[in-house]
Amino acid sequence: MANVIAAIEALADVIIAKKEFLTELDAAIGDADHGINMARGFEAVRAKLAAANPEDIGGVLKLVGMTLISTVGGASGPLYGTAFMRAAVVTQGKAILDAATIAQMLSAAIGGIKDRGKAVRGEKTMLDALEPAYEAFIQAMDKGESLSKSLQAATKAAADGVEYTKTIIATKGRASYLGERSIGHQDAGATSTYLMLSALTAFAQE
Ligand code: ADP
Ligand code: MG
Ligand code: MG
Repeated sequence: MANVIAAIEALADVIIAKKEFLTELDAAIGDADHGINMARGFEAVRAKLAAANPEDIGGVLKLVGMTLISTVGGASGPLYGTAFMRAAVVTQGKAILDAATIAQMLSAAIGGIKDRGKAVRGEKTMLDALEPAYEAFIQAMDKGESLSKSLQAATKAAADGVEYTKTIIATKGRASYLGERSIGHQDAGATSTYLMLSALTAFAQE
C-alpha cells in the first residue's frame, strides 16, 4: 500500500514539475491551462493522501479520481478523474500492484475516458498516448517481459503516441476549433498521460 501511495506521489511530482511545459503546449492550440489545471489537481491529491488512510489500492485510486474531478476542472479533470475512478473499481480489495492488475487498470481507465469524452484514437487526445501504451504493455507481458520492462515498453509507446499527435488534426476538445492549424503541435493531454506513465515506470525501476 505504501508503495502505491508513493507511486502516486511520484506521478504528482512529475506533473507539478512540468506544469509550465504542459501549459505552454495547451497555449499553442488550446487555452493555456492544462498544466495549471493538472498541477492544481495533483497538489490537492498530495494533500488528501497525506491526510487519508486508504485501505487498498482501490481506495487510493478512488481518492485520486474524486480529487481530480473536483479540483482540475476543464476537459481533463472529469476525464482523468473518471480514468482513476474506473481503475479504482478493478483494484478494490487489492494491496499489490502486479502486471495483470496494471493491465486491468489501464484498460478500465481507457474505457472510462472513452465513455466520458466520446473520443477514439486518432483525435489528438490523451487516448493517443494511453491506448498504444496499454497495447505495448500487454504485448510485452505476453512475451514474458518483467513488469519494469513492460512499463518501459508502455512509456515508449506513449512517447511515440505524443509524436503522432503532432501529425494529426484535433477533432475533440478545444484544439478542434483550430482544425488544420492544430497540425504540428503535440497534444497537451497526450503529453500529461506520457509523463504520468514515465513517472510510474521510473518508480517501478527503483
Ligand atoms: P480544457 O481544454 O477544458 O482547457 P485541459 O486543457 O485541462 O482542458 O485539457 C485538454 C486536454 O484534454 C487535451 O489536450 C486532450 O488531450 C484532452 N481532451 C479534450 N477533450 C477530450 C475528449 N473528448 N476525450 C479525451 N481527451 C480529451
Ligand atoms: Mg486547456
Ligand atoms: Mg480550460
